[in-house]
Amino acid sequence: MGKLDERVAIVTGGAQGIGKAIADALAAEGATVVIADINGEGAEAAAPAGGAGILADMAQEEQVKSLVAETVKRYGRLDIAVNAAAIVPFKAWDDIDFAEWRRIMAVNLDGTFLLTHYAQTPMREAGYGRIINIASNVVVAGTPNLAHYVASKGGVFGFTRAAARELGKYGITVNSVAPGLTASEGVLASPHAEAFDFVQMLQAIPRRGEPSDIAPTVAFLASEEARWVTGQMIVVDGGHTHN
Ligand code: NAD
Repeated sequence: MGKLDERVAIVTGGAQGIGKAIADALAAEGATVVIADINGEGAEAAAPAGGAGILADMAQEEQVKSLVAETVKRYGRLDIAVNAAAIVPFKAWDDIDFAEWRRIMAVNLDGTFLLTHYAQTPMREAGYGRIINIASNVVVAGTPNLAHYVASKGGVFGFTRAAARELGKYGITVNSVAPGLTASEGVLASPHAEAFDFVQMLQAIPRRGEPSDIAPTVAFLASEEARWVTGQMIVVDGGHTHN
């Protein structure tokens, strides 16, 4: 018996990294998991047994709408929505132009709104839902070379709190999880990878954060046990920052 038996989940950005670890953790607790990713092949390859991978660009409204409709059509319900898809850029403040600013907002913040907007309908009908948005501890730290990303994740934090207030009366909780620097495929292939030694010195637990360190907190928030927790941001970063 898993604590998510019979539950159906969408995890965005689950083709790799933290999203993939979350998809695996939800599936291990019994959930049927649909991975939605702009990397359609990666989504299919990463989909846990019994679930599916669906190509979707979370910045495109029609694609998010179809993702939710397709999930409900295939599996009959939608209980859990995890917004993990994001672009994690590395750019000096002076090099961020408006087009880049908009691109980050479109995926990281608009995508979170869009999935919440479309997922709430089947959740409200069922009187039950769990929405978990992946923020970042950069909203506390104000990390350099990421100003647009920091702003987008600050938006995710604020939107989570507001949506929790709107949706609580329908049995839907909305929370965010804020990881610290984590060894995902995306980070390991970027200049952020050079920050691990420095960041470890600032953590209470001095080792590299892994995607599997983030997933159990999401699985808890996705469960019935977390029924009295909503509107919160849980920082999961080995004690690097304090919310
Ligand atoms: P990653 O770059 O390894 O993976 C991101 C995934 O999102 C990829 O599979 C990518 O294809 C997908 N994606 C990108 N744009 C998309 C779009 N428009 N539509 C659908 N899918 C899209 O990332 P990660 O490091 O595992 O990060 C996962 C989440 O955790 C993100 O929300 C990120 O902001 C957050 N986070 C990561 C860290 C970290 O250090 N890794 C720290 C804090 C927060």
